[in-house]
Amino acid sequence: MPLAEPTQTASAPRPRPTKKFGSRATRTAIPAVNGSLYAARTKIQPQAVRGTFRRIKWALLAATLGVYYAVPFIRWDRGPGEPSQAVLLDLDRGRFHFFSIELWPQDVTYVMGLLILAALVLFLMNAVAGRIWCGYLCPQTVWTDLFLAVERLVEGDRRERLKLDAAPWSMEKIALRTMKHAIWLLIAWWTGGAWVLYFADAPTLVMQLATYQAPPAAYIAILTLTATTYLLAGHMREQVCTYMCPWPRIQAALTDEHAYNILYRDARGEPRVSAKQAAVLRAAGQPAGDCVDCFACVTACPAGIDIRDGLQMDCIQCGLCVDACDTVMAKLGRPAGLIGYDTEANRRSRAAGKGRVSHVVRPRTVLYAALVAGIGGFMLYSLATRSFMGLSVLHDRNPLFVTLSDGSIRNGYTVRLSNKRLGERHYALAVEGLPGARVEVVGGLAGDLPVPSNATQEFRVLVFAPPGAGPTASVPLTFRIADAATGETARARDSFKAP
Ligand code: SF4
Ligand code: SF4
Repeated sequence: MPLAEPTQTASAPRPRPTKKFGSRATRTAIPAVNGSLYAARTKIQPQAVRGTFRRIKWALLAATLGVYYAVPFIRWDRGPGEPSQAVLLDLDRGRFHFFSIELWPQDVTYVMGLLILAALVLFLMNAVAGRIWCGYLCPQTVWTDLFLAVERLVEGDRRERLKLDAAPWSMEKIALRTMKHAIWLLIAWWTGGAWVLYFADAPTLVMQLATYQAPPAAYIAILTLTATTYLLAGHMREQVCTYMCPWPRIQAALTDEHAYNILYRDARGEPRVSAKQAAVLRAAGQPAGDCVDCFACVTACPAGIDIRDGLQMDCIQCGLCVDACDTVMAKLGRPAGLIGYDTEANRRSRAAGKGRVSHVVRPRTVLYAALVAGIGGFMLYSLATRSFMGLSVLHDRNPLFVTLSDGSIRNGYTVRLSNKRLGERHYALAVEGLPGARVEVVGGLAGDLPVPSNATQEFRVLVFAPPGAGPTASVPLTFRIADAATGETARARDSFKAP
C-alpha cells in the first residue's frame, strides 16, 4: 500500500481537518499563497506525553547515546605496541579495531557485507513492523528527542513554548533562549568531540584537545559535527525525515498491507464526536466513535501530522500518539488502543466487519530473514577462518622480461607480504607453474623473509626460467608463501613473460 505524500492522504477515513489547534495549524492547513506551491515551515511544538512508547524511547535514547559517548573509552589489551582502544578506526595505519577483530584495508569486503546485512535487517524490520528504525533508533530521532527534552526543560511544555514564541522579546525570553541554545551547542559539541575519539586513542586525544595540541583535522571535524548536530537536531528536526532522508521513499516502496504500523483504528474511532455528544448519540441509538476529536495525538506528534488521516510518509512511527490517545481513553474510561500497531489488511478487514488478519510470516519476511541468516552466517564463518597472512604481487611494467647472456629469462616483481598476527613472522617464498624456475629476493633470502608484527613488508623478487626450458609466451605463475611456525600458506597469481 503506498504511503501518502505529505500533502496527500492514504486510506483516509474522512478528509483531513483544516482546523487550527492552538496557535499551530497542522501542515495541511497552510493555504497556497498567491497560487504558490511553496509553504514555509510551521514550527512544531510537540506536547510531552507519558506512556509505554515514551518509556521505550527514553530507554533506547539512554542506551544508544550511552554507547556512542562511552565506547571510545573502553580499553582492550592487544599487546605491546598495539592500540589499547576497543573500537578504533586507525586511519594512519589503515586498521579498524573492534575488540579482538582487526580489519585491514584488504578486508573491505567485510564492511560491504556489513552494509548489505544492515540494509537487509532494515528491510526485515520494515516488513514486520514498519519504521522501527526511524521511530526509535535513527540518530536524527534520538538527538532530536534529546534536544526537545532540553527545550522542554528550559522553556516548558508545548503551551509555554507557544506562549514564549508569540511573546515580544524580553529579558526573560532572551535568557531562556540563550540557555536553550547554549545547552544545545554543548550537546552538539560533545557529540562532535565523541566522534573524533573513534579515530585516535581517546584519553590521549582528550588531553591534546584540552591543551590545543590535537591535529587541526580533529578541531575541524568537531566544529563540523557541532554545527550539523545543532542544525539538524535543534532546528531542522522533522524536516530531515520528511524532505532530506531517502528512507521514507524507499520504505514506502517496500511496505505492504501486512506490515505492522502505527495506525488509527477508524472503525472504532469514527464518527468522531465529543464525549458529551457521543453520550447523547448513543442514548438515541445513533453511532458514535471513540475518538473525541481532542487532537491530543496531533499535538504529541513530533512530525506535526494527524495519524487519523491514515498512514503518511511523514510518520516516523514513534508511537507517541499512541501514548497520547491511550491517556485520553483512560480518562474517559474507554479501552486503550484506538491508535496502535496494526496492519492495513487488518484495518480493512475490521472495517468490513470481518475477523483479524495477521501475516507476520510471509514470503518477504521469510526471504529477508533467510538472507540475513545466510549472509550473517557466511560472514561469521569467513571471519573465523580468515587468513592472518597476505600476499600481493605486481609484475614489472618495463621491461616485461630480460633475456640474459646464458639464455635464461628473468622477470621482476614487487611482492608485498602481510603479517596480521602480533610478533615477527618468517615466510618461505616459492613459485609454482614454471618448471625449473629459480627465485631470488633482492637483499634477502627467499626461504626466510621476515615480516614485522602486524605489518606489511615489500620485497623485490626476481624469477628466472632456465636456459632452453623457458616458455615462449606468457604463462600463469603462482606465488606461494608459507609460515613453517603456524603452517599457514597464502597464494597469489600473476604471470611470467617471455619473448
Ligand atoms: S503520527 Fe504518531 S507515530 Fe507517527 S510520527 Fe506522529 S506521533 Fe509518531
Ligand atoms: S488522541 Fe485519540 S481521541 Fe484524541 S483526537 Fe487523537 S485519536 Fe481522537
